[in-house]
Amino acid sequence: MNWISEWALPKIQTWLGRKEVPDNLWHKCPACEQMIFHRDLERALHVCTHCGHHMRIPAAKRIEYTLDPGFQRIELPKAPVDPLRFRDQRKYADRLKEAQAKAAMDDAVMVAHGTIEGRRAVVAAFEFGFMGGSMSPGVGEAIVTAARLAVLQDAPLIVFTASGGARMQEGAVSLMQMPRTVIATQMVKEAGLPFIVVMADPTTGGVTASFAMLGDIHIAEPKALIGFAGARVIEQTVRETLPEGFQRAEYLLEHGILDMVVKRGEMRERLAQVISLLREPVLPGTVPEPAPALADAMAPAPVDAMKPAPVAAPKAAPEA
Ligand SMILES: [Zn+2]
Repeated sequence: MNWISEWALPKIQTWLGRKEVPDNLWHKCPACEQMIFHRDLERALHVCTHCGHHMRIPAAKRIEYTLDPGFQRIELPKAPVDPLRFRDQRKYADRLKEAQAKAAMDDAVMVAHGTIEGRRAVVAAFEFGFMGGSMSPGVGEAIVTAARLAVLQDAPLIVFTASGGARMQEGAVSLMQMPRTVIATQMVKEAGLPFIVVMADPTTGGVTASFAMLGDIHIAEPKALIGFAGARVIEQTVRETLPEGFQRAEYLLEHGILDMVVKRGEMRERLAQVISLLREPVLPGTVPEPAPALADAMAPAPVDAMKPAPVAAPKAAPEA
């Protein structure tokens, strides 16, 4: 990299008229170890341009890549933290403050609503950089809020997971978020709305053991690690060598845990397609029969009134 630091960087500095150039212009792919220029990486949605490795991305990027421009991030209710006043080498409260400052989030999940190719959706995204995307009361609160919002807006709920599981420092309170998030996503299903889970690398522990496995549609990014316990623990328990690719997205797809493995660059389009299939089951040019109960209720009305309302408003302006 000498020619870059000795020749290219000074040139760039002169050209930009700046004294300082950030040293993070190049990123190393953790899979193939090739260097990628930050702008190329951003353009490729943080997928390695050499080997196709899907790098871990922050929750904010996830939302930006998924929703149409003009989406709104929502404020999440504050949840009680640190009930155990836990400390290991350091106080949990201090670790939490540090994570909050680093990620500019209160906890490990970000929620936003908007549209995906013109179709309304509520998106919750885990931030793996925030204490390993671990489940705390704050995370539970975020999923409950996202589910409520989806019901309120009559929109599908999409959760992008990336988590190491329960947050040990919160003890049993963290484990309680498992049934809590299950009930939250059940609310979405009871309202007849699609609940889609997109599993990113890694989705493990309590998240896998709760709502993440209860989606109507399960999607994963290529080669994402998805499982409950780690492979080594399983190997030691069952005393067997695990097959190649165990707990990876492609293996799980083959074994029926996932519905599809979708590249990041195609995710938006695929989500829009899935939402459209689940929510607009009307083929162009066909008029569906109204449900019998609805037909009875509307019997005295003129036939015109029975025409169903337009099913979707494609390219509807995102809600302000
Ligand atoms: Zn690579």
